[in-house]
Amino acid sequence: MPSRAELATDIVRVSHALHRNGWVANHDGNVSVRLAPGRYLVTPTATSKLDITEGGLAVVGDDGKPVEGEARPPSEFALHLGAFAERPDIGAVIHAHPPYATAIACTGKGITTFLAEAVVSIGPEVPVTTFALPFGAAGAAPIRALIDRYDALLLCRHGVITVGKDLETALLRMELVEHMAKIATLALPHGGVQPLPEDVLRPLIQKRRGAKLGLAAERTALPGGEAEPAPAAAPTAASSWTPAGPPPAPDAWSGGKTEGACGVVYGAPGVETPRNEELASAVKTAIDRHLAGKNS
Ligand SMILES: [Zn+2]
Repeated sequence: MPSRAELATDIVRVSHALHRNGWVANHDGNVSVRLAPGRYLVTPTATSKLDITEGGLAVVGDDGKPVEGEARPPSEFALHLGAFAERPDIGAVIHAHPPYATAIACTGKGITTFLAEAVVSIGPEVPVTTFALPFGAAGAAPIRALIDRYDALLLCRHGVITVGKDLETALLRMELVEHMAKIATLALPHGGVQPLPEDVLRPLIQKRRGAKLGLAAERTALPGGEAEPAPAAAPTAASSWTPAGPPPAPDAWSGGKTEGACGVVYGAPGVETPRNEELASAVKTAIDRHLAGKNS
């Protein structure tokens, strides 16, 4: 377990990398680590990521309030708290606005992983959340709804959040999301990226789980709603989380369903948190409208 001083140095290094890579502007972006249960070290509010120092970090409790020192956390730390609450296995969260990935998030789309190596590293999909302003419990809700199954999310009309056992892992995931988004964008004039065939995707998802755990998942949800029995190895208590999701849910791969909900404002009057059936219904309605428009 790294010391608090080492974790602070990691935060500074990652913050400077976010700035150097052009993934943040102004005071954008925030970086945090879990020091202990209910105790976090986080970049302070209203500070360029270029100006982050070890001594200027905020120490924050589970209620999002500072517990020592003068530094205050950003309001977006609520998003980190949502991820930490859902994922006891993670030690670090990064939020940034890398331009290619944020551009896709601002169109309301997610990224279906189209590179074989990336499926192993980040899973078959980087889905987009529903929309929420990025503070408080309402801001964290769209992240909490998905982060148990994914290590990286596009935030609807906002940016990207990645998690990892440590900051290095979360940073590599941020880098990969942005890299895929850039490639997808560069491919547009050539007709766009092509999805990986299902028979290629399936063993890659298994490999992802096996590579991280050395254990097999009990069941693996696959595009098309199929579920595949896992190889015989039995998960242990320590493996309740799998890289592509905790005990894999039937919807571990949303098949792009989340995209139908980017635009729903959590907490808006009369708007309930969408469930999977509602997401599917929203997608169907959008497609029907699109087709009706084409035919008229
Ligand atoms: Zn942001």
